[in-house]
Amino acid sequence: MKIGIPKEIMEGETRVSVIPSMVPVLKKDGHEVLVESGAGVKASFSDEQYKEAGAEIVKGAADLYRTAEVVIKFQAPQKNTSLKKHEVDLMKEGSTLFSSLPPVTLPTVIQHLLDRKITSFGMEYIPRITKAQSMDVLSSMSTVAGYKAVLVAAYHLGKFFPLLMTAAGTIPPVTVLVLGAGVAGLQAIATAKRLGAKVEAFDPRPAVREQVESLGARFVEMELPEDVETTGGYAKEQSEEFLQKEREAIAARLPKVDAVITTAQVFGKESPLLITEDMVKTMQRGSVIVDLAVAEGGNCELSKSNEPVEKYGVTVFGAVNIARQLPVHASQMHSKNVTTLFKHIFQDTESNLDFEDEITKSTCVTHNGEIVNEMVRKFIEEEK
Ligand code: NAD
Repeated sequence: MKIGIPKEIMEGETRVSVIPSMVPVLKKDGHEVLVESGAGVKASFSDEQYKEAGAEIVKGAADLYRTAEVVIKFQAPQKNTSLKKHEVDLMKEGSTLFSSLPPVTLPTVIQHLLDRKITSFGMEYIPRITKAQSMDVLSSMSTVAGYKAVLVAAYHLGKFFPLLMTAAGTIPPVTVLVLGAGVAGLQAIATAKRLGAKVEAFDPRPAVREQVESLGARFVEMELPEDVETTGGYAKEQSEEFLQKEREAIAARLPKVDAVITTAQVFGKESPLLITEDMVKTMQRGSVIVDLAVAEGGNCELSKSNEPVEKYGVTVFGAVNIARQLPVHASQMHSKNVTTLFKHIFQDTESNLDFEDEITKSTCVTHNGEIVNEMVRKFIEEEK
């Protein structure tokens, strides 16, 4: 098959879906790899590197989409303003797409995909099973985001993270509170610990306590809700009553911490509000909140997307797509994940899809003009 790697057109996007070192892996199975000129530049991968790896460089998106039988991109398709066409309309009818297709983008994209009989695979719908771990883009990007969030907090905080014993006196370590200890939260805990901070964390899923403690952080005590996890490994949406109790427990910690990293999310839903404006007022002057859930509504009432807000002496930074700030490794991880998924779905060069396979069935969003993924089908019906 002819596999096309386009340049991402979403504003601010720096990552590329497939990096040069993965080109030979795809070619080994007999595929051709076409790369739009400049696709990897913002992630520090040149056209020459792609060429040396065996890819063909194509000038311009129109030519790439016209030729590719499979398009592998990072972001969900959107309108290409310079070509005045939606990226799905640039694709060949009946071709295949691998990209992010988060629920929020679906209403604007799904009809295009159905009309053009595109077989699409959404990286968000990889099942959370051991077999699919090497394909899990969400985990990869959460790893990058959790790491970078701590660096952003350190950048905005006017304090050292570690304990320092200097001739000018002893400086105590800062305290970092991490809310939500999934993939991003655990990486934030590990990064803050490496920088020498004292770390405390909370997550309503009971299994998380041990993971938090094994990283050397303190688990914040509060009552855990019942029936907290979906079969897919995600947290369920919590009742307002539970969230109120959780906010009270967090409020008791806020005056004592220097930085807060919030990562609490409920897949496909608004993120829970964990820090209200009144709670921010109680924090020490100079403290920092980095909210990784801002794109889904935010865990802090004051968060604004990618814009630091300074209020009551506290800096609140709502980070959207923060993984873009580490484009080399974010692209490398995505590249490995998506290539593994592609090779799993097209185990031979025949394009017969095996819908008995759990990974194929759950990642496939559209095929032959129909919605395949159950969750997406329900979401679209609810939107109507
Ligand atoms: P996520 O990004 O959807 O959510 C982040 C975290 O927010 C989760 O840990 C969730 O429990 C937490 N959260 C939700 N409501 C909260 C609240 N009110 N207060 C505080 N925290 C709240 O989730 P994620 O990080 O992508 O994944 C969650 C878990 O899924 C992982 O920790 C892991 O156990 C599991 N997982 C399994 C696999 C696999 O087996 N292949 C892959 C990835 C993740």
